[in-house]
Amino acid sequence: MDVLQIIKDKMQRDKKYRPKIGVMGGTFDPIHFGHLVTAESAREKFELDCVIFVPSGNPPHKIHQVVTDKNHRYLMTLLATATNPYFEVSRIEIDREGYTYTIDTIREFEKQFQGRAIFYFITGADALNEILTWKESEILLTSCEFIAAARPGYQKQQLYADIDYLKSNYNGRIHFVEVPSLAISSTDIRFRVKNRLSIKYLLPEAVENYIYKNMLYRENE
Ligand code: NAP
Repeated sequence: MDVLQIIKDKMQRDKKYRPKIGVMGGTFDPIHFGHLVTAESAREKFELDCVIFVPSGNPPHKIHQVVTDKNHRYLMTLLATATNPYFEVSRIEIDREGYTYTIDTIREFEKQFQGRAIFYFITGADALNEILTWKESEILLTSCEFIAAARPGYQKQQLYADIDYLKSNYNGRIHFVEVPSLAISSTDIRFRVKNRLSIKYLLPEAVENYIYKNMLYRENE
């Protein structure tokens, strides 16, 4: 039985139970070990019942950027997470028409978990930096906790100041985590594929094979 069904059954049996759900948002172009370690360490640290990976659909902030077809990104995410029983992948943003906004995704999940779940939105610290520009950001900031994941060497001073600002002005609940394996980046992987360099040990082998089989990242940058 998958982890979401286990959670729903438990909610049915125990009306006081409030599951803690990680929502891992990202473009995942492609997904790599940095993302997987981030999700797993957030799951452990915040005692999450599961982590749902949500590959972004048509992100409004990427209109001037080439992003790989969303179905490829979804399938790579599925391959990468298949062996972790606590990980799920959602098509919620892949299947949505038009631009995809995080607030709409969280609202949809709130419905699915009958308004009883506590959500932790996990993403890169750079993305969270701009959260006040996101759709309905004030509501979003009170709808879930945030986990901002940063690469080693990330300039923390500005981030801490931003977190304090969001906490005191918007009641934001934001946690910062530094993840050493986020030294791996999707940009670097795309560069390496394009330049025929090895991507071994940067991402799961199934994703590596998928990239080569579908000839992704050869010419798009
Ligand atoms: P991005 O600008 O592509 O990435 C920013 C940085 O964060 C990159 O260094 C990226 O590294 C890293 N990163 C991205 N997702 C991560 C994750 N889940 N865990 C750890 N590091 C991560 O950001 P994005 O992927 O487009 O957006 C992140 C999330 O914010 C998505 O779910 C997106 O839908 C949401 N968002 C929503 C709005 C809105 O609602 N208006 C606006 C902007 C973003 P890699 O390149 O190695 O992944």
